[in-house]
Amino acid sequence: MNKLFDLTGKVAIVTGASTGLGYGMSIGLAEAGADILLVDIVPSTETEQEILKLGRKGFSIIADLAQMSSIDLVINSALDKFGKIDILVNNAGIIRRTPAIDFTEKDWDEVMQINSKAVFFLSQAAAKDMIKRKSGKIINIASLLSFQGGILVPSYSASKGAVAQITKALANEWAKYGLNINAIAPGYMATNNTKALREDPVRSKQILERIPAERWGTPDDLKGAVVFLASKASDYVNGHILVVDGGWLAR
Ligand code: NAP
Repeated sequence: MNKLFDLTGKVAIVTGASTGLGYGMSIGLAEAGADILLVDIVPSTETEQEILKLGRKGFSIIADLAQMSSIDLVINSALDKFGKIDILVNNAGIIRRTPAIDFTEKDWDEVMQINSKAVFFLSQAAAKDMIKRKSGKIINIASLLSFQGGILVPSYSASKGAVAQITKALANEWAKYGLNINAIAPGYMATNNTKALREDPVRSKQILERIPAERWGTPDDLKGAVVFLASKASDYVNGHILVVDGGWLAR
C-alpha cells in the first residue's frame, strides 16, 4: 500500500513555497520522498531547511510569476538542478479585496496573471518535459471560489474559475500522454491569504459557523491530498477538483 503513495526519486516544483499552503504541501511531498524546487518571490529558506532535515533535497529559487520570463527560469532551474520534472504544484496566488464597483484594472490584471496565466504557461512548459517521458503530475491550487462567486474578490473568483477550467482542458489534451492534471480546492485555511478575513470579527464568525468541521483548515490539511494527486495512487484520476474544505461546500 505504501508503494502507491511513495514519491522516492520524484522531482517536484512547488510555487509559492515559502509560506502557507505551499510550505505545508512541500513538506508533505518531501515526507513522501520527493526532492523539491521551491519557487517564490522571496527565499523559501525555512521550507528548504525542513526538507533537508527530512533527508530530501530542497532547492529554493526566487522567481516573480508576475513576469512571464519567470516561466523559463523555473523550468530551467528544475532541469539544471534535478534533470527532470515529475510533479508541478501551481500554488502561488494572490488576492485583492475591493467592491466590484471600484475594482481597478491593475488589481484585475495582477491577480489574473499570477493565479491563472502563470498556471497555464508553467504547466505548458513543464508538460514539454513530462510528455517526452510519458509521465507527470500537475496539481493546480483552485479554491471554493472556483465554484462560488465570493464577496469583494471578483478577479480572484474569475482567476480560480479559470484554474478549474484549465485543469480540465489540460487533462483532456494530455491524459493520453500519461499525465495527470488535477486540482485541489482548499476551503478556508489559516494563512496570510485569509488574514484580513480572520481579523474581521463578523466575517470570521460567519465563516466558522458554516464549516462543518468547526475549524479553519491548516497547511498540514493539504498534505494527504497533494501526495495522493502526486503519486501512483491517482494514476486514473484526471481533470478532478478535489475539495479539501472541512465540509463547507456540503452545507
Ligand atoms: P499565502 O500564504 O499568501 O502564500 C502564497 C505564496 O505565493 C506566498 O509565499 C507569496 O509570496 C507567493 N507569491 C505571491 N506572489 C507571487 C509572485 N508574483 N511570484 C511568486 N510567488 C508569489 O497564501 P496561501 O493561503 O498559502 O495560498 C496558496 C494558494 O492557495 C493560492 O493560490 C491561494 O489562492 C490558494 N487558496 C488559499 C486558500 C486559503 O484559505 N488560504 C483557500 C483557497 C485557495 P509573498 O508572501 O511574498 O507574497
